[in-house]
Amino acid sequence: DLDAATAPLPSVSKSNVGHRWSDITSYATKKKVQSWFQLPNGNWELGRIMSTSGMESVISLPAGKVLKVNSDSLIPANPDILDGVDDLMQLSYLNEPSVLFNLQYRYNQDMIYTKAGPVLVAINPFKKVPLYGNNYIEAYKNKSIESPHVYAIADTAIREMTRDEVNQSIIISGESGAGKTETAKIAMQYLAVLGGGSGIEYEILKTNPILEAFGNAKTLRNDNSSRFGKLIEIHFSETGKISGAKIQTFLLEKSGPMCRGRKSNCYSIPGVDDAEQFHIVKEALDVVHVSKEDQESVFAMLAVVLWLGNVSFTMIDNENHVEAVEDESLINVANLIGCNIADLSLALSTRKMRVGNDNIVQKLTLSQAIETRDALAKSIYACLFEWLVEQINKSLAVGKKLTGRSISILDIYGFESFDRNSFEQFCINYANERLQQHFNRHLFKLEQEEYVQDGIDWTKVDFDDNQDCLHLFEKKPLGLLSLLNEESTFPNGTDYTFANKLKQHLNSNPCFRGEREKAFTVSHFAGEVTYDTTGFLEKNRDLLHLDSIQLLSSSSCHLPQAFASNMLNQSEKPVVGPLHKAGGADSQKLSVATKFKGQLFQLMQRLESTTPHFIRCIKPNNFQSPGSYEQGLVLQQLRCCGVLEVVRISRSGFPTRMSHQKFASRYGFLLVENAAEQDPLSVSVAILHQFNILPEMYQVGYTKLFFRTGQIGVLEDTRNNTL
Ligand code: ADP
Ligand code: MG
Repeated sequence: DLDAATAPLPSVSKSNVGHRWSDITSYATKKKVQSWFQLPNGNWELGRIMSTSGMESVISLPAGKVLKVNSDSLIPANPDILDGVDDLMQLSYLNEPSVLFNLQYRYNQDMIYTKAGPVLVAINPFKKVPLYGNNYIEAYKNKSIESPHVYAIADTAIREMTRDEVNQSIIISGESGAGKTETAKIAMQYLAVLGGGSGIEYEILKTNPILEAFGNAKTLRNDNSSRFGKLIEIHFSETGKISGAKIQTFLLEKSGPMCRGRKSNCYSIPGVDDAEQFHIVKEALDVVHVSKEDQESVFAMLAVVLWLGNVSFTMIDNENHVEAVEDESLINVANLIGCNIADLSLALSTRKMRVGNDNIVQKLTLSQAIETRDALAKSIYACLFEWLVEQINKSLAVGKKLTGRSISILDIYGFESFDRNSFEQFCINYANERLQQHFNRHLFKLEQEEYVQDGIDWTKVDFDDNQDCLHLFEKKPLGLLSLLNEESTFPNGTDYTFANKLKQHLNSNPCFRGEREKAFTVSHFAGEVTYDTTGFLEKNRDLLHLDSIQLLSSSSCHLPQAFASNMLNQSEKPVVGPLHKAGGADSQKLSVATKFKGQLFQLMQRLESTTPHFIRCIKPNNFQSPGSYEQGLVLQQLRCCGVLEVVRISRSGFPTRMSHQKFASRYGFLLVENAAEQDPLSVSVAILHQFNILPEMYQVGYTKLFFRTGQIGVLEDTRNNTL
């Protein structure tokens, strides 16, 4: 039976007058209550319950279908008047199909923004929607529009920054192609208009094309996918004007962006004019004060990366040893770097090593040479990106004007789960566990503050955090990251030995499961992900041979020299890698995982001192096509990005609140004993007792009653049936 508590509240009509409490079981049938029914393809359809007997219900679905189903399989739907509410919290039923339907209902009308309590959900329209520009900015500034929007979030951030003198952050997450970078730009636009005047806002907006040109790649999922996380901190003066900014990037996935020019079939994008884009980038570089000369060097370094991809090798003996072919590519690379062709050739095909007190030169095999060549290209690329960010930061420097008033916008890849998940997903998902914890803590804190203010017993609100999973990653010495780093420093370490170590030490951890071959599974907050350890050690070591660094420092040009000293600065101690057991010939940077963890901790520390605002971007289909909304895809993202988690947290608390006064006046007449004389609090308590509302279902505060979800429904039904 559909019990009374699951019947929608406002749809009871006058024909129900006279229904007594005991009639309520047949109520669902009499009212032909709307309910969700899941089709075999996983989609939900809205139907009406025609009759219910025992555990069986008869439901009529659109297109005249009538089915006999198990009553348990039906999920209550919200009454029509709640269709398309702009905050999911207003839904009487916060179940998955109701949330999905509500978002879709709005999306179909180009209302791409919806609140989920304190979180803004943004669904990528994949087309121009008429929601932006100065008129809208003006309207949000004047508060003449209330519908959810990125502008509204940015506006709140500015207001709270000024009012509370606390730094703010806007945390944008979502999968690749969900609209994070666009959303960040929209937020920046608003801040630039409200805090404009100094001219710096123009420079800040110009950083986007630069970072996109160098940090993005066309991927299968997104024509313009950012392969890095980006935090931009915008500083404001006492008078509310933008005074400067600072950008920090995280974990550029080096092999991604380069594919545009190398080895990939993704070269051009329909509708994108490369020449025009190039012009825009050059203009933007001017704006952030990169000199023409440096711009030349930047493009020369890009050309190095591209030409390196074409450098080939020939066998020189029977032991697979190779030498670089002296062709156009090799000559161009040498010219662009500003080094000798012979030196370049040696750096790519040999390795100097120290054995005891002797220096020896080892010839490389084809695969070692290719590895060396690609490592050099990737390092140059990464250095170039870092160098550009540094130049941008110099230009936007906050300097002495630092005021302690800032709004940070974080654009970071969301939780990823593919058919095959590698080191990149491992890092990204680890970062998302941290962000999720931040998110949970913040929401929980908001909830608790209200409970404390109203004096209710908030210790009963338990919330299930993801600390166990974070422990799995971070525990020393037996956590995923420590074990990875340890294995990366072993000369004989391989992906196999790494996977076996994990199984040996972590199998008792409930968040971990060893898999066959060299895979393992982690239970993330957003679901289980199986990682394939292939390439983990190599990617984590991210070795660049000393020979390559020496080559760059021998250059006659200033960028390669700067890169070389940068690489040396990042080096800690010489490493013993698998290729060179004799040791000593490599530059060991901090492992990638260690560096990433360090950046992440810094980021979290910065975020902890701000008031956060969350935006969750959702991609409604995988084809970048406007108007198509795939329920399964959206649902999976809602789960991953914690929107349903917000709902869950609020369910574990007391999301429905009503003042004693309102409660007493709304339901007081239902009391058997006349209570007209009594104060609102006593009346309220009497009502709760008379209706046997279980003590764990509510809390009595100083000014308000707090209810778990669904509780008010019972009273509301009775009230409507009595009126
Ligand atoms: P992400 O950074 O999450 O990978 P992007 O922000 O690059 O995704 O968005 C991918 C594409 O989706 C954009 O290039 C743009 O075409 C489209 N898009 C995203 N947000 C919007 C929006 N608010 N309005 C119109 N198109 C959008
Ligand atoms: Mg992006």
